Amino acid sequence: MYINGKWVGENLNVIEVENPATGEVIATVPLGGAKEAKLAVDAAYSAFKEWSQYSAYERSELIWKWHNLIDQHKADLARTMTMEQGKPLKEALGEVGYANGFLSWYAEEGKRIYGETIPATTRNKRLFVHKQPVGVIAAITPWNFPAAMITRKIAPALAAGCTAVIKPAEQTPLTALKLVELADQAGIPKGVLNVVTGDPQAIGKVWLDDMRVRKLTFTGSTEVGKLLMKGSADTVKKVSLELGGHAPVIVMEDANLDKAVEGVLASKYRNAGQTCVCSNRVYVHESIHDTFIEKFTEKVAELKVGNGLEEDVHIGPLIDQAAIDKVVKHIEDARSQGAVVKHGGNVVSNLFFEPTILSNVTDNMLCMREETFGPLAPVTTFTTEEEVIERANDSDYGLAAYVFTENITKGIRICEALEYGIVGLNDGLPSTPQAPFGGFKQSGIGREGGHHGIDEYLEIKYISVGL
Ligand code: ADP
Repeated sequence: MYINGKWVGENLNVIEVENPATGEVIATVPLGGAKEAKLAVDAAYSAFKEWSQYSAYERSELIWKWHNLIDQHKADLARTMTMEQGKPLKEALGEVGYANGFLSWYAEEGKRIYGETIPATTRNKRLFVHKQPVGVIAAITPWNFPAAMITRKIAPALAAGCTAVIKPAEQTPLTALKLVELADQAGIPKGVLNVVTGDPQAIGKVWLDDMRVRKLTFTGSTEVGKLLMKGSADTVKKVSLELGGHAPVIVMEDANLDKAVEGVLASKYRNAGQTCVCSNRVYVHESIHDTFIEKFTEKVAELKVGNGLEEDVHIGPLIDQAAIDKVVKHIEDARSQGAVVKHGGNVVSNLFFEPTILSNVTDNMLCMREETFGPLAPVTTFTTEEEVIERANDSDYGLAAYVFTENITKGIRICEALEYGIVGLNDGLPSTPQAPFGGFKQSGIGREGGHHGIDEYLEIKYISVGL
């Protein structure tokens, strides 16, 4: 663990980090708890006094140094990520680039934290608005994007002048620790970033209860997000939550089918279906259903499943047995209600699962209501635009949605009607550092990325001056 600029925790019990592709234990990290969580806040709180006084330009310079070191070490970071998380090396390298994009973007955006002057009612007053960092922030991150979920939170926090305590997911702490090692080399001062590995409940509770932690930023399940939101109430922390999704894909009758198939393929099978913006339900207009299935199946058949370290692998292992069980449960439930397996449907071995396509799916099936978080694409048909919008919006989630049509008027009309925070119109991969990422409804609160993402780490101070 990295607390107050030091590597600590060698006397603690450990958590074993397993490679999901082989089941091998590849490393151990300390099983930190309440004590380490508090030490991390002490360090971050103390470092805040100085870090918040750095100029935006001084902070930018250090963030750029960190960025450049990550770029130099990207091959090593990607390999570590593949070994602890499972995603194919090419995807891991892509994630390192995406993660680093948050550092370069916010290194510059920190220079544009502008205030305001407001005309006063009377002659003898001047009204100013300043923005100041919120203080110590706590970041709790998931295993599916071991690098990007950290930098998406930490880059704007650092640029805004906040200091941070971070708890990476227990499955993927190694990428996080390597990132912070590079931050240390870049000269980010001690205490500004602290990483605690260990018991989620114990660490989470200390951070929630500590009044000095002024903001909680979390990416993970809706269930845990709700607990953390409740837990933040007693100290009235700011919260940003990026929670589950259940993305619909709508393929209209006038879609370019090759584009639609490419889009669904990219959004569905990336990270073996383990992203919160993965398409979960595919609605295809009834007039083009058979052609779509034919083209889609052809492409899915080309996907190679295997250890992400091997060349040409498209789909790595799922993260654990529970993930496999959920995919199996969704397929069994759908089949028992009349769905047809068009491709795949089975475990290959251990944690590897075939990319799967189901047709004849109906809205009451589990896979159409719950996030599968695996390589399963359920396909159903619709007749009218109005009907498909209603069915797509009939969800407690509202993170990402996708629409494919060559008619721009129709496309915009549907985008506007969808109750989702992110809509890809003829685009299966909309995430990018400079755009706001976040959900409606139970998919979350707040936005990460873009100029919106830095506001989450800033307080607004109004100063009224009497002359
Ligand atoms: P997933 O289902 O994707 O593993 P979780 O929501 O369980 O998602 O985990 C996301 C992150 O939240 C991980 O870092 C995990 O350790 C952490 N976490 C889980 N439960 C709690 C909790 N009760 N308090 C604080 N953090 C938690």
